[in-house]
Amino acid sequence: MKVSVLSALEDNYMYLITDEKTKEAAIVDPVNPDKVVEAVAKEGVTLKSVLTTHHHWDHAGGNENLVKKVKGLAVYGGDDRIGALTNKVTQDDKFKIGSLNVRCLFTPCHTSGHICYLVTGESGEEPSVFTGDTLFLSGCGKFFEGTPKQMHSALIEKLGSLPEDTKVYCGHEYTVNNLKYALHVEPDNKEIQQRMEWAKDMRAKKVPTVPGTIGEEKKYNPFMRVDVSAVQQHVKQTNPVDVMGALRRDKDGFKPKF
Ligand SMILES: [Zn+2]
Repeated sequence: MKVSVLSALEDNYMYLITDEKTKEAAIVDPVNPDKVVEAVAKEGVTLKSVLTTHHHWDHAGGNENLVKKVKGLAVYGGDDRIGALTNKVTQDDKFKIGSLNVRCLFTPCHTSGHICYLVTGESGEEPSVFTGDTLFLSGCGKFFEGTPKQMHSALIEKLGSLPEDTKVYCGHEYTVNNLKYALHVEPDNKEIQQRMEWAKDMRAKKVPTVPGTIGEEKKYNPFMRVDVSAVQQHVKQTNPVDVMGALRRDKDGFKPKF
């Protein structure tokens, strides 16, 4: 499996996923169709499908235009508000990109129809998960249409139970800002401090911080650390679902000082 990271808009990422055996490809959240068509031609692959994480304009807003440019695309998504949708999916629905296997994870909260896509290739190759605005590196999406319980289910039960080496490809480059909040929650955490140095260095070189891994997120992402006592102490809660809700409220009002 090959994943090409394509920047779009201010800080969005689109991902071109290619099965190297068949040269069949899928695109995740093609908000900039012209750039997608260009990448498909450059890589010499056949685009067969669109994987839409959620209906927000900066993710699904290019679908209608892309299906006009590339005929016969299957457009996957979990929400009727998604443009050009042909295949509505939900938890554990499966389909293929060439020989690659895709499994859908229903992760409502940021929006009520949000889907993450888990893509697995050959055995021995790390799986990849495309998390849209549910899981960011060191953060998570705002709870626009859902509850702390739903985000707990998404981040801890579904994404958190994937193999530690699963690569995480998220919808936005928010890593440095997210780490500012992670350090606000756990100022003495050396691993998060080092991760911040790394992320700043990557961004200074204009290199994307994606992909991370599920194992890394468990070390750096406060929203995946709701069972860690330092995180619980910060929000003065112990029940993991309450911690999730309190972290989100705290971060929504957080203004970094540096
Ligand atoms: Zn969104």
